[in-house]
Amino acid sequence: MSAKQEYDVQTLLTHGGIQPDQHHGFVNTPIYRGSTVVFPSAEAFREGRQKYQYGRWGNPSTDALTSAIKALEGAEGTVLCPSGLAACSTAILALMEAGDHILIPDNVYSPVRTLCDSLQNRFNFEVTYYDPTLGADIESLVKPNTKVIYTESPGSLTMEVQDIPAIVRVARTHGAFTITDNTWGTPLFFPAIEHGIDLSVMAATKYIVGHSDAMLGTISASPRAWDKIKSFHALTGIFASPDDVTLALRGLRTLHVRLERHQRNAIAVGKWLEQRSEVKSVFYPALESHPQHNLWKRDFKGASGLLSFVTREAPQACVDKLVDSLKLFSIGYSWGGFESLVLPATLQSIRTAKPWEEPGHLIRLHVGLEDADDLIRDLEEALNEFSKNLK
Ligand SMILES: *Cc1c(COP(=O)(O)O)cnc(C)c1O
Repeated sequence: MSAKQEYDVQTLLTHGGIQPDQHHGFVNTPIYRGSTVVFPSAEAFREGRQKYQYGRWGNPSTDALTSAIKALEGAEGTVLCPSGLAACSTAILALMEAGDHILIPDNVYSPVRTLCDSLQNRFNFEVTYYDPTLGADIESLVKPNTKVIYTESPGSLTMEVQDIPAIVRVARTHGAFTITDNTWGTPLFFPAIEHGIDLSVMAATKYIVGHSDAMLGTISASPRAWDKIKSFHALTGIFASPDDVTLALRGLRTLHVRLERHQRNAIAVGKWLEQRSEVKSVFYPALESHPQHNLWKRDFKGASGLLSFVTREAPQACVDKLVDSLKLFSIGYSWGGFESLVLPATLQSIRTAKPWEEPGHLIRLHVGLEDADDLIRDLEEALNEFSKNLK
């Protein structure tokens, strides 16, 4: 399947990467595990005259996923990485050179911040963390050596939505590349390449795999960034396991159905949380109370299942109890699987461009595919208990 425009996204998800005629009629591409691929003759070997030549350079399993994601993203090309973080780091390293400047949003997935802090010293990268609500005003931070403007929208934990079209215009004017971490929206809800982004990164670990049973990252490129990412990816030997890739292909088939339900449940949970006196604010772009709700409405086609809320001021022990008493939301990292998760977060030590001075506690929820009323009842019991403990 080729150009994205030809089919609706739901059709792409169903048919992307499927080639039964290449696999004896089997609907799904088998798992091709392997390093060595044998050649029929010395001449064929010398001339590299066959489609697959060595495991690391790709196989029918990895090709099935790259072609499906490429079509979905409307990209010039897609490469796979063994984790979402590997996709973020590979995207940055493919574009940056020693002495270059990169702009990173203050609410970036925090391991990317740790990475950039380390690269700053070791590879002589200049890094500036910026307020993610800047939009076109980001131009004031652009320097002659700015090579990359990195975005993540909505950003981690505090969920600010960025004005990506405005940022892309600034980057274009100054000859810089743009990267976006599109894990939350996926191309279903935010077609990043269409919005002018050069490298669209996803932690496929989250919604693409969708079942919390594998780790994977994807990088999809605009025509102007494709050669850079393709060659750097090949140079560094980054490779995704065919087993994990096959799980991602399975997840992909139901992505639109799952995202619709995550959205419906998250809206129900978010609206309910807003009404509670124990909750000071809810950070979820689909709610009208969200500071960038209008930007989200302009640029996004939907909202996924991740949201955060801030509790009233309370002793840490009360917040711990609230989190511990939830039965359907398990405590843990990551998100995007079928199940609900909760993560208590501390931001005070992380943010620099826009210090976090909120005295309440931030709690992140991944709203899963359970019954929304069951989830709300679980939260209700926990918040009632929280109220009682506060008195
Ligand atoms: C989880 C996450 C990543 C990293 O993905 P892993 O597969 O866990 O390495 C990157 N970006 C965002 C926004 C994430 O939420």
